[in-house]
Amino acid sequence: MKMLSQNKMARRRFIGVAAGAVASGIAIAAKGETKMKEITLEALPYAEDALAPTISARTVSFHYGKHHAGYVKTLNGLIAGTQYEGRTLEEIIRTAAARGDAAIFNNAAQTWNHTFYWNSLAPAGKGGAPSAALLAAIESEFGSFDACKDALADAAIKRFGSGWGWLVAEGGKVSVESTPNADTPITRPGVKPLLVVDVWEHAYYLDWQNVRADYVKAVVGGHLNWNAASRRFA
Ligand code: MN
Repeated sequence: MKMLSQNKMARRRFIGVAAGAVASGIAIAAKGETKMKEITLEALPYAEDALAPTISARTVSFHYGKHHAGYVKTLNGLIAGTQYEGRTLEEIIRTAAARGDAAIFNNAAQTWNHTFYWNSLAPAGKGGAPSAALLAAIESEFGSFDACKDALADAAIKRFGSGWGWLVAEGGKVSVESTPNADTPITRPGVKPLLVVDVWEHAYYLDWQNVRADYVKAVVGGHLNWNAASRRFA
């Protein structure tokens, strides 16, 4: 949050008290000092029905509006008044991982992973293609673009239980992996996530029921945002 002048602070305090509204990201501390930068729920990069029928508007509505929003809300409740308050989401994730603050880590990492997921997807036909540099790295590692997609799908499908399938880059090399639950590659220095597929059941159960493999193949085959992956790889 940018620093506010004394006048503005006083005005915010008045407005906040008058309206009873602290949702603007500025809470009123007991001693009248400013405070609190909340973690926000980032907007979806497309309409809720943009990924249908692979991922229906109903799924996106629950997944974004309930699950993702819920992680953000819980996280803000957990960090209020702690050393985590006012820090970036990435700092919160890395610090909570290092300190073993499991509840904060889980909700922060799930917040980050979901924002990354929405921005890893694109409406059918809108995801573009890997840049020349990314394609070269993919072909060097997997032999072909199709083999890379197969490997990513395989990693996502085979994750036991809840988790995530990732395409990541490290030192210019690309690889696939999966993580359980809220775990995220950004806790590892030098690892740059390029794309992710959510394989928690809430991501696909309304549309595909128990058939995770079909959901993953439809997403990897037609809804990955390779333009975004290329920017992240550069
Ligand atoms: Mn999810």
